[in-house]
Amino acid sequence: MAEPGCELCEAQRITPWLHEDDLCFVAECESCGVPMVVLREHRVEVSEAELDHMIGRLEQAGRDFFGERRFFVDKVRRQIPDHFHAHARPYLFDRLR
Ligand SMILES: [Zn+2]
Ligand SMILES: [Zn+2]
Repeated sequence: MAEPGCELCEAQRITPWLHEDDLCFVAECESCGVPMVVLREHRVEVSEAELDHMIGRLEQAGRDFFGERRFFVDKVRRQIPDHFHAHARPYLFDRLR
């Protein structure tokens, strides 16, 4: 179910999409500029299978996006706490190398 006013439910294609299927999509996050997996439903409770699937897609997109750069999966939802999404973020100190 879509929640009115939820940015993730609106799923506007303002940034490139890296993957999409029936459960989720992976897009570049507008604010962070890194791959972000978004559940296609407005909820945060996900089954282990759904979580595995989404994190798997995010890690694949992260490998394509970052190449040799290492990254980690950040499941903290800072701006939209009530809709499941996760970011693939680079380790900051790797930039110094
Ligand atoms: Zn939502
Ligand atoms: Zn973000």
